[in-house]
Amino acid sequence: MNQTIRPEAGLAALEARVRRDLEMLQLPAKEWAPPLQRGGERVLDVAIIGAGMCGIAAAGALIFRGLSHIRLFEAAAPGEEGPWVTVARMDTLRSPKTLPGPCFGIPSLTFRAFYEAREGAAAWEALYKIPNAVWQDYLSWLIRVLGLPVAHRTRLLSLAPEEGLLRLHLATPEGERRLLARRVVLATGRAGAGGLAWPDVVPRALRPERAAHAYDPIDFGRLRGRSLAVLGGGAAAWDNAATALERGAASATLYVRRAQLPQINKGRGSAGPAYLQGWDALDLERRWQLIAYLHDMQAPPPHETVHRAPRQPGFRIELGTPVEAVRAEGEGVALTLGGARPREVRHDFLVVGTGFRVDMDAVPELAAFAPHIARWRDRYRPPPGLSRPEMEAFPFLGPGFELTPRGPDAPPELGLVHLMNHGAFASHGSIASDIPGVAEAGERVARAILRGLVQAEWPAIRAALEAFDEPELATTPFFVPR
Ligand SMILES: Cc1cc2nc3c(=O)[nH]c(=O)nc-3n(C[C@H](O)[C@H](O)[C@H](O)COP(=O)(O)OP(=O)(O)OC[C@H]3O[C@@H](n4cnc5c(N)ncnc54)[C@H](O)[C@@H]3O)c2cc1C
Repeated sequence: MNQTIRPEAGLAALEARVRRDLEMLQLPAKEWAPPLQRGGERVLDVAIIGAGMCGIAAAGALIFRGLSHIRLFEAAAPGEEGPWVTVARMDTLRSPKTLPGPCFGIPSLTFRAFYEAREGAAAWEALYKIPNAVWQDYLSWLIRVLGLPVAHRTRLLSLAPEEGLLRLHLATPEGERRLLARRVVLATGRAGAGGLAWPDVVPRALRPERAAHAYDPIDFGRLRGRSLAVLGGGAAAWDNAATALERGAASATLYVRRAQLPQINKGRGSAGPAYLQGWDALDLERRWQLIAYLHDMQAPPPHETVHRAPRQPGFRIELGTPVEAVRAEGEGVALTLGGARPREVRHDFLVVGTGFRVDMDAVPELAAFAPHIARWRDRYRPPPGLSRPEMEAFPFLGPGFELTPRGPDAPPELGLVHLMNHGAFASHGSIASDIPGVAEAGERVARAILRGLVQAEWPAIRAALEAFDEPELATTPFFVPR
């Protein structure tokens, strides 16, 4: 910590700068959408589900456009949105500290501005990468400084069409609640498009007593002195192994199907404007070639993570070793291993690091719409050799991340739902998945919602223009009173 700066003073000065920047940009714009009542209820212009960085990016972009009758509904408690201080088990973000973050193009809202204000310029220079909790603090600060209307501990249970609107069914701390919105943005994170991927070879009944997913809450204290098996070689597999060992596990062994780890992070290679803004400009054929290529390449774990786990003496890794079956044995698990040295091994606990899946049939909030949502396989047939069933299951989204209908019997309200999470990857690239593109995703969603509202509310918007009667010439000799 820089000794010459008090964090509150630094942040207070930054917040004054934010206010001035917004004033100079005349943000937010004046509210313009005609209020809508239905059955005595004021309808929300936009309900955003999730107050992680995508929710923040969408909310800020909407408010700046004069759409302020919005609300964010967030299942987690304040300060615990997203994975950062709960199930993210790395020490720092993979991304470089220089990422601007969801800052709407405004320098005073960048991560760097926040960090320098709170910790001082020297601390910024000394910072290597962003610790998870610091990134969380930054996102919480954005919520506060932008005055975003977040209802925490409030989970969306389901969405249903209702006469041109969307009916939300929410679980709130005060009980269940139903309300109407013109549009809904699902900014529900990596697991929000189909949940956690669970491998077929691991019986689900082993969870939670003998097995867990790498993104489950795990009581690592229970693993003290025990032997852990980890299925997979991605970042979360390594970080779970490291965390368990650092908290006293006797050993952690990674079983990895691949003979070698992926070497190149193509995500970093594609984190520039051509991919972040140009992805959906490509025709379907080229987009599919890119989707298949990135799917096949896979990303390596960050090098910091790969250095971290082997610092502990109990760390082991077996490459080229697929796990072919798992069963309960004694108080632990027995794994049948394939590869060059087929055998059975026993461990006290298993963590599966198999990531997330995308499956519109497995999104509880979308159950009413699922059969009608167009997937990539409905709109594009890959040429021989390029079939990737996992990717063909991604929803086929419109230009503003809106769901599109599979057939003519789809409810028209389906297009009022914007899927701003990893499910958007095939249609829009990584802009709703990773930090570098999130501001662009927020802009795209907000612009599409604005345009949709203008179309839907055109008679009232036009009437407001006709009623507008500010006399420009009132102070001149040419003024003609009406
Ligand atoms: C472990 C980990 C590390 C990552 N590291 C990086 C990195 O270094 N760099 C990078 O660019 N990207 C990284 N990512 C990818 C990405 O930046 C994060 O996943 C990020 O959290 C995505 O933001 P989000 O707003 O889409 O989702 P989240 O941050 O997950 O926020 C979604 C929110 O929605 C809420 N929610 C979900 N369902 C409901 C519901 N039904 N009702 C109400 N609320 C709901 C959740 O509680 C959550 O707070 C990482 C991802 C993970 C999982």
